[in-house]
Amino acid sequence: MTKPEFKPDAVLNAEIDKTFKADEYEPLGKPVYVKKETALDAMSDKGYEESYLGDAIRFKMKRDQKRFWAGDNISDYVSEEDKEILINEATEAFELVLDRLLIDRENDPNSRGTARRLAKMYFNEIMAGRYDPSPSATSFPNDSEDRYEGMLVVRSELRSMCSHHHQPVVGVAYIGIIAAQHLIGLSKYTRIAQWCARRGTLQEELANDIAREIEKATGAKDLGVYIQATHGCCENRGIMAHSSLTQTTVLRGAFKDDSGTKKEFFDNIKLQQEFAPR
Ligand SMILES: [Zn+2]
Repeated sequence: MTKPEFKPDAVLNAEIDKTFKADEYEPLGKPVYVKKETALDAMSDKGYEESYLGDAIRFKMKRDQKRFWAGDNISDYVSEEDKEILINEATEAFELVLDRLLIDRENDPNSRGTARRLAKMYFNEIMAGRYDPSPSATSFPNDSEDRYEGMLVVRSELRSMCSHHHQPVVGVAYIGIIAAQHLIGLSKYTRIAQWCARRGTLQEELANDIAREIEKATGAKDLGVYIQATHGCCENRGIMAHSSLTQTTVLRGAFKDDSGTKKEFFDNIKLQQEFAPR
């Protein structure tokens, strides 16, 4: 038997013409342009035909120089209708993985629907934060005379997974801000944190992502994010460490520069932990 010849990925290695073609774009008031076509249209791009929608979307992102790492949100490129098609395509691919692992998915009743379950779980649950747009956070003005000026600390439970091994990352984020000109609902902090977490991630990146999105939603320049989490890739494999905890901290503005604010943040975390030990 001869080995099949290795073929490099046609999409990732495609030659792409990156010159700007005005007729492909719609002006949105100078100098902002938006692409005319939707993801499905990209499938029939001149000179480029793909049988998988996933390949067409990858092609588009590559052409637009849009990064699509495991921790990146790509919701601008994936519509709700696309998702259904992508789940079907991923099911087919997971079936192949199970076949290559020599698991009898035809006769083993527990493995029969596994490929589809995996595809749905990735798109709708453990990586949903890649495909869903950011949770809308209505903000309320905080500019009256008796406005809240203190520190706000919210505890958010997190479920994520590492990009390296696709193993679960389980932990808690403590988000602290000094209230700015507007406030968002308390549950929104956790919704934003979970949206950032439900992707392939590195804990160091996750803390930065949460800080950036909270800043976007609240306008607060003074903020801190402290995450403590356990990593399946250290517990279930590799060093098999049972109770190793990884801690990451991002501090901005007064949280970074003012030792009193910093101390108050960590004192608050201690109080939170007394109230709700992990
Ligand atoms: Zn890992």
